[in-house]
Amino acid sequence: MCLFCKVVKKEIQAKILFEDDDLVAFSDIRPVAPTHALVIPKRHIESLNHASPDDAALLGRLLVAARRVAGEAGLDASGWRAVINNGPDAGQTVFHVHVHVLGGRSMAWPPG
Ligand code: 5GP
Ligand code: ZN
Repeated sequence: MCLFCKVVKKEIQAKILFEDDDLVAFSDIRPVAPTHALVIPKRHIESLNHASPDDAALLGRLLVAARRVAGEAGLDASGWRAVINNGPDAGQTVFHVHVHVLGGRSMAWPPG
């Protein structure tokens, strides 16, 4: 079972910020910004490369949940970034789709 499936099953502890039937949001263990949360579907999808049209509603809800986490962190006015890394060039290290919610500092563009 993958690391984030273990977070879903509470076999690995995480600071849960939000949870519903299909999604979990939790704090990243190695934050790279003052706010750094991860939002994941409970169902295992390796990366966006493995998403199908049937996943459209779930992935949409993932972004709405990211927006909720950012709002609860007080980032609406200052701004925040949603990042989904897919595969080696993007630096994906955990192969279970996750949205990074990053905020609380200004960020460079383009990303490194
Ligand atoms: P990726 O590099 O795949 O886009 O992001 C994986 C993220 O998962 C990283 O930011 C990393 O810090 C985070 N992470 C890795 N292991 C754990 C863990 O056990 N708990 C939590 N909360 N985050 C983790
Ligand atoms: Zn998984």
